[in-house]
Amino acid sequence: MSLDYCAPLRDMRFVIDEWIGAPEWWCGVPGWADLDAATAHQVLEEAARFVMERIAPLNAGGDLAGCRFENGELTLPEGFRASYRDYVEAGWPTLALDAGHGGQGLPYLLDVALQEMLAGANHAWLMSPGLTHGAAACLIAHGSADLRATWLPKIASGEWLTTMCLTEPQAGSDLSLLRARATPDAAHDGYRIDGNKIFITGGDHDLTENIVHLVLARLPDAPAGSKGLSLFIVPKWLEDGAAGRVRNGVHCEGIEKKMGLKASPTCSMRFEQALGWLVGEPHRGLASMFVMMNAARLQVAMQGIGHAHSAWQRAQAYAAQRVQMRAVSAPPDYAGEPGQPAPIAFHPAMRRTLLDLRAVVEGERAIGYWIGHWLDVAARHAQAREREAAARLASLLTPVAKAFFTANGFAAASDALQVFGGYGYIHEYGIEQTVRDSRVAMLYEGTNEIQAIDLLVRKVLADRGETLRALLDHMRTEAQQCGAVALAQPLGARLGALADEVGRVSGGLLRASSQDAELPYRVAGDYLALLGWLLLGFAWARAMRLACGASADDPFYAEKRATAQYFFDYPLAAFDYRLRLIEAGCQAPLPHV
Ligand SMILES: Cc1cc2nc3c(=O)[nH]c(=O)nc-3n(C[C@H](O)[C@H](O)[C@H](O)COP(=O)(O)OP(=O)(O)OC[C@H]3O[C@@H](n4cnc5c(N)ncnc54)[C@H](O)[C@@H]3O)c2cc1C
Repeated sequence: MSLDYCAPLRDMRFVIDEWIGAPEWWCGVPGWADLDAATAHQVLEEAARFVMERIAPLNAGGDLAGCRFENGELTLPEGFRASYRDYVEAGWPTLALDAGHGGQGLPYLLDVALQEMLAGANHAWLMSPGLTHGAAACLIAHGSADLRATWLPKIASGEWLTTMCLTEPQAGSDLSLLRARATPDAAHDGYRIDGNKIFITGGDHDLTENIVHLVLARLPDAPAGSKGLSLFIVPKWLEDGAAGRVRNGVHCEGIEKKMGLKASPTCSMRFEQALGWLVGEPHRGLASMFVMMNAARLQVAMQGIGHAHSAWQRAQAYAAQRVQMRAVSAPPDYAGEPGQPAPIAFHPAMRRTLLDLRAVVEGERAIGYWIGHWLDVAARHAQAREREAAARLASLLTPVAKAFFTANGFAAASDALQVFGGYGYIHEYGIEQTVRDSRVAMLYEGTNEIQAIDLLVRKVLADRGETLRALLDHMRTEAQQCGAVALAQPLGARLGALADEVGRVSGGLLRASSQDAELPYRVAGDYLALLGWLLLGFAWARAMRLACGASADDPFYAEKRATAQYFFDYPLAAFDYRLRLIEAGCQAPLPHV
């Protein structure tokens, strides 16, 4: 029995080539005409090899060793520095960066697949380079030409790592409460930053020669609230001509002891007259920071998938060989003695768990990669209208993926632990680490409650359901296409009905919210989950249609058909549960606590 991380390459190819049909679209994109499915497969295979050989083996040891903070020096566990150097040298940070900015210019979709692998193999390791892509995107979108020339090459290549410094003790979800200050420093054509930030991932470490902090702070004339925040780039080390490298006023005061991600330092930072430079316009820092946060949110969604996949994979392997109690039924090809104890994978309760895990994670992979693809369309489509529509769709889907996938990732880890019985609770099998490591994804990059409000209030109600209608059109088109395929037809019909339900409920919420201001906030979490289940229904209806058109004997497609049917028979019942809760929220006031 191997419990080592194994990248799901076959399923990744299915999603990219068949479910999305990305290579067909790439052919028509300038610069990607030569990018065919075979090249994309090679990239994924190389990535998988690196992740499985170099990153996954550091996971358990990193968890046990943790980070060391001694005499002001922060050291990551053994193997992290060397593997990070090789990751940078192999060019993985620049996979999806435009060639014009020194990157390889490959589709972001492939980067999304890489993120899934890294998260499944070693979430704590991924935390260090996790913000590279977002920081580069933020500088490209909002940095001046000078700032880009100075900082972008080393940030984008991963030579210098970045942080995102938002949180302060009194300001977590509510950034309007931030107090860090920035005062102009004309002599350096910059600003002096003062203030304390907490929970800063990678605030200090020994992986790179310099660390570049992106810090939200207030200028002296800033209006109160979140509209008064500006964004600054603040390095740990300054280049000072003749003096060479001098230390900036950025200090790590300590690291948190925490539930999981022990190999990722979560730092308390003190900025004291730290020299920094403004990114974007004064008081518009939140808009600049959102570029970074949106990229990070999809990555966090992929962490949910990575955890769920690795948890399922290990539970499946364990359940196949752990023998306990006689089974009520066995698969037709089972060669064991009837009446003797059988593998726990035969027991219906364990089968339900394993099938649930698989159905959810493979459905999520299709949707997560689909969002990555829409971001490629938003960046590369020849027509502005299509680019805008794709960007709106990706922006609607991102909070759903962030919150729904991370909640499922943690639930999947816990359910997979149950498959291991008591052995799951001890360190040896690694699943208890997955439970601990996966939990934080529901909290950071905007808690899942904040994602739900973002979805319903800002993305659905604020545009009166226009982007949602475009999404539901995708579901209805799929439902129609399923109609032409016998086995897929009932799934398509149900998908169409669910899309209609979501349209009806959303219209109802739009009307009722004008009379009941609290209503959207009461039901936002259930509404997000409702969309999550709808999207998984979409994923599996399409998978069923495609699998019906494929070779009947290929076990890969036979399993796809069986899982699609299972998903519609069992887990999709959760859609109705969420619908009932939204109806309750519409009718029943919520008592105060
Ligand atoms: C391991 C780790 C790494 C982190 N890395 C970083 C980092 O690199 N940079 C950084 O800046 N921050 C980082 N954070 C901080 C993280 O982003 C915050 O913890 C998060 O934004 C929540 O803020 P808070 O902890 O203050 O919770 P609070 O904002 O106090 O929220 C507490 C609870 O109230 C809920 N809540 C709050 N407001 C509302 C509302 N309006 N409606 C409904 N529910 C609400 C929240 O959802 C949550 O459940 C990290 C945190 C951790 C644990």
